[in-house]
This record gives sequence, structure tokens and C-alpha cells, in this order.
Amino acid sequence: MSATPRLYVEADLVEGGDFALGGDQAHYLSRVMRLGVGDHVRVFNGRHGEWDATMRASTKSTATLALGSRTREHAGVPDLWLLFAPLKKARTDFLVEKAVELGVAEIRPVLTERTDAETVRVDRFQRLAIEAAEQTERLDVPPIRDAAKLMTLLSGWDTNRVLLFADEAGDDAERPWGGEAGRARPADEVLRGLPDGPAAILIGPEGGFSAAERAQLRKQAFVRPVSLGPRILRAETAAVAVLALWQAIRGDWRG
Ligand code: SAM
Repeated sequence: MSATPRLYVEADLVEGGDFALGGDQAHYLSRVMRLGVGDHVRVFNGRHGEWDATMRASTKSTATLALGSRTREHAGVPDLWLLFAPLKKARTDFLVEKAVELGVAEIRPVLTERTDAETVRVDRFQRLAIEAAEQTERLDVPPIRDAAKLMTLLSGWDTNRVLLFADEAGDDAERPWGGEAGRARPADEVLRGLPDGPAAILIGPEGGFSAAERAQLRKQAFVRPVSLGPRILRAETAAVAVLALWQAIRGDWRG
């Protein structure tokens, strides 16, 4: 992979066009990456692929880039969403960054009964997602949606999109692991049995889902509970594990 810096820009990218960068991006190129006139940058905007650009002029707070040739055609990621209950700041930051690297198409913070996040900083998550997309050589940046209550999401759900519910417990709250009755099937078995098509993964908060939430989830025809094995994973670990499994079995990690 090239060491040439990559930047996500909003501008349309057309052959021979010039465009200006302001604020943080100009500062990043000139002061952090110490680029000068004539140096190269790779730019992408989530629509027109990746392009080679040359620095034409730069000050501390502005930079002008001249677009050269397209280096990569636009390519998206599989139609996979991540729904997660926000966690403590550092853990949520980690989860958002890994979800971008693992190729989710959209990220939706979900408010559940035991979600402990005081504030859901969507603007912060979106900045993290842009940085992760630049680093991971993606050609797009997944949108971070506004936080929504779990029950609201379920009531308006597009039933063509299967919802994989990372379910660490079973139906019988009195028995360890919910007893045999309610235990979720192993994730790889569930994933291999899915039809191709849009999917979403739901990861609960550190305190897990309430019994009412689990009952509501398990009765939906579009929900597939999945087990991630016999240990309780941190929410961010569970997210990485099931995203990786999905990409390997159903997504773009296949040959
Ligand atoms: N309810 C758990 C407990 O015993 O305290 C804690 C929840 S766990 C820290 C956070 C989330 O990660 C869960 O709600 C679930 O979505 C996911 N998760 C963790 N371990 C899992 C497992 N073994 N199988 C499926 N999902 C798991």
C-alpha cells in the first residue's frame, strides 16, 4: 500500500479539476504530513473512486489540490449494518473504528434499557469513521445514524434485512446460558444458513439486554439469535468477532 496520504473529501472528483481544502485537512497536509507544492495526495469522496492529486498551493489553513488521474474505480462494501448500544467513550471509539475497517455499510447507535452512554456523540463517531476509512483504504465512509431506541428500530424494520442478534443468554433466565431451550445457535451455523441479502448485526450494552428486550427480539421473524461461544465477550469484542465471521462467510472476505 502506498505511503501517499489519503484524504476523504466532500468535493466531486472530475478529471483536471482543482479544489480547495480548508481547516484541519489543510493543516494536516502541510503541518503534520509536511507536504509542499508538487507533493501528491490520494483523495476519495465515496462516489467517484480514488484519485491522485498534486498540491498546488498551501498555507497554514488552506491548500489547493489539482486532480490528476483516477487510481481506483469506486467500489462499495457489502450491505451490512452494525447496530450497537453505546459504551464508555474509549470502547465505543474502538468499536466504531473496527467496524469501519471490517467493512460495515452503516453504523446505528441503539439505545437499550441498560445503555450507559450519557451522550451519543454522532459527530465524533463520524470523524472517527472518516479517519478509519482513510487508513483502511476504503473508498467510502459509512454514515453514523442518530441514536434510536431499540423498540423504535424494531417497529420500523425493513423485514428484507435479516437482523443477527448477538445473544449471550438463552430464554431461561434461571439457568446458566439460558438452558438448552433458549440458547442461540452457533454464529457460523446461522450465517451459513442465511440467504444472500442485506443484513444487520445487533450488539448489546455492557449490561446486556433486558428480558423484555430479548423476548421482543426473539419473536421477530427477521431476527436470528447467534451465539459467539461459551464465554461472555466485551461488547466491542463481540462486534469484531461477528463482523469478521460475517465477512468471511457471507461478505467480501470470500475469494
Ligand atoms: N449480559 C452479559 C452479562 O452476563 O453481564 C453482558 C453483555 S456482553 C458484555 C455485551 C454484548 O456482547 C451482549 O449483549 C451480546 O450482544 C454480546 N455478546 C457477548 N458475549 C457473547 C456471546 N458469547 N454470544 C453472543 N453474544 C455475546
